[in-house]
Amino acid sequence: MGKGLLSGFSQQPYWHEHLDPPLALVERPTEAADVVIVGSGYTGLNAAIETARAGRSTLVLEAGTPGFGCSTRNGGQISTSIKPSLEKLTRRFGAEKARAIRHEGENALAWIEERIKDENIDCDFQRSGRYHAAHTPQHYEALARMADKLTREENIEAFPVSRAKQRTELGTDSYHGGLVFPRHASLHPAKYHRGLLQRAIDAGVEVCGHCAVTQIDPTADGFRVVSEKGTVKARDVIVATNGYTTGLTPWLHRRVIPIGSNMIATEPLPQTLVDRLFPTHRIASDTCKVVYYYRASPDRRRILFGGRVSAREIGPAASGPKLYDSMCRIFPELRDYGVTHTWSGTVAYTFDELAHTGMHDGVHYAMGYCGSGVSMASYLGMRLGQKVLGLRQGQTAFDGLRFPTRPLYTGKPWFLPAAVAWYRWNDRREYTKAARVA
Ligand SMILES: Cc1cc2nc3c(=O)[nH]c(=O)nc-3n(C[C@H](O)[C@H](O)[C@H](O)COP(=O)(O)OP(=O)(O)OC[C@H]3O[C@@H](n4cnc5c(N)ncnc54)[C@H](O)[C@@H]3O)c2cc1C
Repeated sequence: MGKGLLSGFSQQPYWHEHLDPPLALVERPTEAADVVIVGSGYTGLNAAIETARAGRSTLVLEAGTPGFGCSTRNGGQISTSIKPSLEKLTRRFGAEKARAIRHEGENALAWIEERIKDENIDCDFQRSGRYHAAHTPQHYEALARMADKLTREENIEAFPVSRAKQRTELGTDSYHGGLVFPRHASLHPAKYHRGLLQRAIDAGVEVCGHCAVTQIDPTADGFRVVSEKGTVKARDVIVATNGYTTGLTPWLHRRVIPIGSNMIATEPLPQTLVDRLFPTHRIASDTCKVVYYYRASPDRRRILFGGRVSAREIGPAASGPKLYDSMCRIFPELRDYGVTHTWSGTVAYTFDELAHTGMHDGVHYAMGYCGSGVSMASYLGMRLGQKVLGLRQGQTAFDGLRFPTRPLYTGKPWFLPAAVAWYRWNDRREYTKAARVA
């Protein structure tokens, strides 16, 4: 129970409110460009800034309004973004490559801070730190062991917080302690996107919205890019479509798994309540397999809560009440307050839980951030721009990795509802068992 969705709730991201007015965009694409970029999120824009500043005429084509995808819908949480552990990667790639891949997560985190500072982008960036909460005592023990290992082996700062001290980090007793990553950060995703868009336009990038690309054909000296608003001759093409990848690029479509993620924003809350639930500025996430992630809004007036709440894809009006219930289970005090915004977006997972970048049939790509793309999409986008310019700095540890798919997989994840249902059932079972013992 509780107030749930308030009447007149919005299905647009909370982040879209109070944004500066849209910037000068081009109505129609030009007939030719050195570089055509498909998709206007963090990947596409960061690539565009690099190529345009090096003097290449650059055109960004976007199916929706610029920033329509995840880049203005996410939680604004910035971690080191590499999901597989060093151990797991070492087994797969050997010690040296594994370290290099893990290190790219650190590089991305450091680089996004520099980018925002150098470009003077006003987007509430903060080295806030993250509290990663354990939803069972066993998870807490594993996290505590992991903290030690991360610091010792990878120089990644992390320290455990026991359940007894948890309220110094998060105003709930529903977890069994957690781990603090003091270097993780947060920002306002849509303001960051708007800042990038402005810098791209200032650099001479032409950005055309509501202009879906429908075909990319190789030619003798580049590509012919067909869009809803006209055909463009391009020397280089970058595909930056992540969770919105389609049959336009069938080879990539077969390699990413689109998964919906949902978020809600509460109505404005009393300051004392926000301070009690979030005594620090840290962002938060938990160890559930189907993870919840949440934080206070940058102005600390609301709670923004995200996760995946159903096995099947459902719209924001249906996911909002479910997320609300999950949020109130963690923070029962929030039952007295309702939700003003509920929204969703589509992230891209990969079969090996790693992001991928490279070139296929002459077309550059970077995608598959597995739900943690604020820094990684930005960083790999920038590197992709450098690659198009032929610069050595464009190289990354992800280069040359095989981008795996599965037999018969064509981009429609028929297996997802069963997998999510199983993980959610298991998360709930573990949680209930731990609560009974406690
Ligand atoms: C609810 C939610 C919460 C998230 N929270 C976090 C978080 O807290 N931290 C984090 O690190 N990550 C988070 N993410 C993931 C992160 O937002 C993404 O990884 C990142 O924004 C990806 O950026 P991108 O530029 O690659 O793709 P996107 O921003 O998704 O952009 C891709 C664009 O390509 C366009 N496109 C597709 N096909 C075509 C075509 N044929 N022609 C033209 N344009 C096309 C789409 O319209 C879209 O705008 C979250 C995602 C969601 C949905």
